[in-house]
Amino acid sequence: MNLQQQLFKAWRVQKKVLRIHKEKQNLRSVIEKLTDEYKELLHREENLSQAIASCIAKEEDLDAHVVQYAADLARTQEQMNFGTLNFDIGTEQAQALEEKIDALEEEYFTFVEQRESQEKEIFVTQQKIKLRVRSIQEAQQAEQNKLPDLDAQEEKHEEQLEDLLSRVPLANQTHFEDLRFQHSNLVAHLRDSFCGACGTKQPLKIVGDLMRTTAIHVCRNCKAFCIAP
Ligand SMILES: [Zn+2]
Repeated sequence: MNLQQQLFKAWRVQKKVLRIHKEKQNLRSVIEKLTDEYKELLHREENLSQAIASCIAKEEDLDAHVVQYAADLARTQEQMNFGTLNFDIGTEQAQALEEKIDALEEEYFTFVEQRESQEKEIFVTQQKIKLRVRSIQEAQQAEQNKLPDLDAQEEKHEEQLEDLLSRVPLANQTHFEDLRFQHSNLVAHLRDSFCGACGTKQPLKIVGDLMRTTAIHVCRNCKAFCIAP
């Protein structure tokens, strides 16, 4: 294998390393996405539970008022029966109290309805939370199952890469190492006299060199290794 071929082979191995990194990242992303959804659902559950508690407090408050007005009403009627309260005044008072009670009861049932719909929603949310927990566990299991194999593959490729790069001049090795995770096409075949990575025209003398010898040339524009097609 000549120098150009060695670098090209090294780049092919590097692409395998990148694919493994991508696969690991994908496994991680699935877990992260599910975890985000899970946290959002927990937050929603918390909000609903606060809203329900606030409805219950209002219902209790309204209920206490109704009880109080009902007691007032009973007393008024009693006083009228015993003749200690003028009939007309008593009737007016009783009517006013009944109207208050009706209004409070109407309000009370609005809160009951509100709470019942929130209780349904919190139930659905809790079911979703359970499902997310299971999905997260499954995704973590999938990651755990695949990681050892991916790590082993990556290690094998890294060894191959090290072996290949140890046989090229140090300057080329350093350049490769520096850019291997940044450049999208680090070792590119010339296309006519243009860099295969960025399309910049290369000096004719260099093109000739690359064709005739196994010399290595780095594109001035994108820093890719240009090799003969
Ligand atoms: Zn280039």
